[in-house]
Amino acid sequence: MVLDFKFIISGTLIILALIPLYIYRKTIFKHFYKKGDIKTFIKSLTIILKQDYPKIPFNFNILEKYKDEKDIRIQETLVVEDFVRQFCNYEYELNTQPSVSKEHLWSTYEQNCSLRKDNQYPKDWNQRKEVAWIRDNKKCNRCGTELKLSDAQTLLVKQMKNGGGFNLENIAILCNDCTKVLKSTNIEGTAKDLHILDRLMIKVEN
Ligand SMILES: [Zn+2]
Repeated sequence: MVLDFKFIISGTLIILALIPLYIYRKTIFKHFYKKGDIKTFIKSLTIILKQDYPKIPFNFNILEKYKDEKDIRIQETLVVEDFVRQFCNYEYELNTQPSVSKEHLWSTYEQNCSLRKDNQYPKDWNQRKEVAWIRDNKKCNRCGTELKLSDAQTLLVKQMKNGGGFNLENIAILCNDCTKVLKSTNIEGTAKDLHILDRLMIKVEN
């Protein structure tokens, strides 16, 4: 009975002595886990960004900026917002686009290049858009993301009121996000409304 009692006491003491060690280890491991995780997180975003938006020169060395943030979710969100900001701030010059060889054009092509009297798009507009999309390898001219024809947006390099035409050299193919960025008058607001934000936020830990 006495022995049992001693055993219980010493057992309890050992457990009590181990508790601080347990808490300490948990804190240390959590700390390491957090650090390792944010690096992996940035790596996984880097793969997506390089692959899906190859024309945007992202700066991937942004860990330093957010290393003091303790909450992993906030840290990851800040990283995502940084990349989206970089996407928005990329300065794209809308230049004259490449020509397409005559064999890919059609009989009414030339006559429909100029502005119609009713200010409407020419009847062969969809055909023009498709040829421009194929010319650009089905990719956005600004960010390089791959596009379905139904998702492709067009922008006239030189507006009709400034003497532009519907000729293929004046038609740029863009993705939805880049069109929003280029037309935006409030870039902070626009950034919240972009597909790239949703794409990257999926990766943030819940
Ligand atoms: Zn784009």
